[in-house]
Amino acid sequence: MSKKYKICLDPGHGGSDPGATNGRYLEKDAALDIVFKLAKLLALAGVDVIYTRTRDEDVELHPRTDYANAAGADYFISIHLNSAGAKQANGIETYAYNTTVPESYKLAQVVQRALIAATGANDRGVRTANFHVLRETTMPAILVETGFISNDAEAAALFTDGYQETVATAICNGICEYLGLEVQKDMKRYNYLMEIPAGEFRDTIKTLMAEGIIKNSDGQLDLSYDMIRMFVINNRAGAYK
Ligand code: ZN
Repeated sequence: MSKKYKICLDPGHGGSDPGATNGRYLEKDAALDIVFKLAKLLALAGVDVIYTRTRDEDVELHPRTDYANAAGADYFISIHLNSAGAKQANGIETYAYNTTVPESYKLAQVVQRALIAATGANDRGVRTANFHVLRETTMPAILVETGFISNDAEAAALFTDGYQETVATAICNGICEYLGLEVQKDMKRYNYLMEIPAGEFRDTIKTLMAEGIIKNSDGQLDLSYDMIRMFVINNRAGAYK
């Protein structure tokens, strides 16, 4: 039997600390939503999940890392939304404390790659930062900035269940790839084009929708990962010509 991993999920901010805002949405809310979706997927992959917070409450930084360290978590994943003065700033970036803790940096690279592949978002790369949660954790730790709340298009997506699900699935896939765990791909249903992994998958479904081969009369696609895969394979074989 493979090792049972314990992963501590850390939704940024909470309670009286909203994190970044755009006047309408609060970072702390999307961070918690994404963490819950990620937790569900990690549990399906056989991971033991613990949290630094599960409600909208104040949790300082020290208790977050103390908790993960005392609980003996194997990995620490912090989820945030980015913000910038320039509204056009957009994309995803993943942080590790430095490049000299190879496990953290490698995990950050795998997760970042999975996120960009799934969302098609602007790749801001893997970065290093002297963040408390990355410095004071005794296990490999990463912090994901899942998109900019200050960018109108990204903020709108980040507060939908569909895009949160896409982001959570990508992070889960990255972690599972890194740990060598089986991913439960078929659990997710894809209801909107933007939820489908960017590239050939999304392009194929888009084309087949335009040609009327795939209909979403009620506005929802309701496709599983395997169904999308089948459409792509059939399309490559020229089945819809
Ligand atoms: Zn934050």
